[in-house]
Amino acid sequence: MKYLIVANWKMNMTLPELRSYVNVIKSALIPSEREVAIAPPYTLLLPLFHMLEGSNIKIAAQNMYYEEKGAFTGEISPKHLLDAHVDYVIIGHSERRKIFGETDALIAKKLKTALSYNLIPIFCVGETLDERNTDKTFDIIVSQIENGLSLLTPQEIQNIVFAYEPVWAIGTGLNAYPAQAQEVHLFIKDLIQKKYFKTSIQNVKILYGGSVTPDNASDLMSMPDINGLLVGGASLNPEKFLGIINFKES
Ligand code: PEP
Repeated sequence: MKYLIVANWKMNMTLPELRSYVNVIKSALIPSEREVAIAPPYTLLLPLFHMLEGSNIKIAAQNMYYEEKGAFTGEISPKHLLDAHVDYVIIGHSERRKIFGETDALIAKKLKTALSYNLIPIFCVGETLDERNTDKTFDIIVSQIENGLSLLTPQEIQNIVFAYEPVWAIGTGLNAYPAQAQEVHLFIKDLIQKKYFKTSIQNVKILYGGSVTPDNASDLMSMPDINGLLVGGASLNPEKFLGIINFKES
């Protein structure tokens, strides 16, 4: 299984900044056993696609709506993402849940629609600090996953990338210890396996996200059930992002 490393630029970067970023990243060698995707703001999706031509870096979106078209002012449709050559779409990021009030029910619809348009969802789940401190981490993960996947068939679930992003680790500089992340990744894998597949599944990817840097990437990636990384802040600097992409395998 190829490791997947995804940059989530959030509401950062402009067109001039994009050009210099791409110059750095395009000239670097990316190991063939690692897949890389970048999720810029919507206005940069198509420019990024054109600037990356000739490289094997994939395009990702940070969000989408679950309808194809209509009176949904300000939203973006899966068809718009396909126009921009998007492969992956982040769904259920904690900032969407918290700041924009996205519910599990809405996220479930988005996952269903994304898959029906052959977009690969990166489905984010994770607990807050308060939930971790009150021993609710696993309950939260179960409810986010079960509700989020409620409209999908096992076949569809195989086409999702999961991302464990503890909310307390996002943008805080406090990454989960590798063993802490591994514990939840294994839990997610077991949950999906038992509930939806009954047999062992090999190819479902679970990314870790939360204050990943070039300094902690190798240790995180040394865990058996961490199959890639979702990187926010550190992905805004191309040298740092390359440092993460090129983490040393132990
Ligand atoms: C994220 O927003 O998905 C994220 C992981 O952010 P950061 O790397 O900045 O913690």
